[in-house]
Amino acid sequence: MQRILIVEDEPAIADNIAYVLETEGFEVVRCATGGEASEALAADNIALIVLDVGLPDCSGFDLCKEIRKTSAVPIIFLTARSDEIDRVVGLEIGGDDYMPKPFSPRELAARVKAVLRRTQSETGSTGESPAQPPLALDPHKMIVHYFGTPLDLSRYEFRILEVLMRRPGWVYSRDKLMELVWESPEASMDRTVDTHIKTIRAKLREVRPDIEPIKTHRGVGYSLRDSW
Ligand code: CA
Repeated sequence: MQRILIVEDEPAIADNIAYVLETEGFEVVRCATGGEASEALAADNIALIVLDVGLPDCSGFDLCKEIRKTSAVPIIFLTARSDEIDRVVGLEIGGDDYMPKPFSPRELAARVKAVLRRTQSETGSTGESPAQPPLALDPHKMIVHYFGTPLDLSRYEFRILEVLMRRPGWVYSRDKLMELVWESPEASMDRTVDTHIKTIRAKLREVRPDIEPIKTHRGVGYSLRDSW
């Protein structure tokens, strides 16, 4: 059963949407604020979001931009203002469709199904799965993208990650990482590798707190996970 997240602060509207979507066989999760929506998105496996533009604690547009840093989950906006519509479907925001208020809940349900069909045939699975690999390296710009978000890495952090990404699943010892990453390994101590791994992990966690891509092999070294 596909789970739809409804983010709408007007209970009557949320009730109507939830009723129709449940009738159509969807499971529904309801939130009234952007904060709750972020939590629900992190905790539940959400197939699509119905997102009101005017929320009590934030704008639906800002929330969408936040979500797009880590997720390609389809988003249908609910908007009360016709002058917002052009922005909604623009690349700037990253929405997949919109419904101007007032709308018929049945029509919204039809849009939900259409967007799910479209996005799932594009990605070959649910809208949650990114088409890109979770970690992508641009060696020319010396940038690593993690779930679409560019990581702000120091030179050595970048080079450690680059080495680990060459062979996901392979265990690199601290000595090997020192040799491959630092120009003069003898000048630094073993702990340096650990320190940099720690800061890399912190930066990865900022993007996805729920995933730990770098594995510690006690007494040996580190590896990058080879499946996601
Ligand atoms: Ca509202």
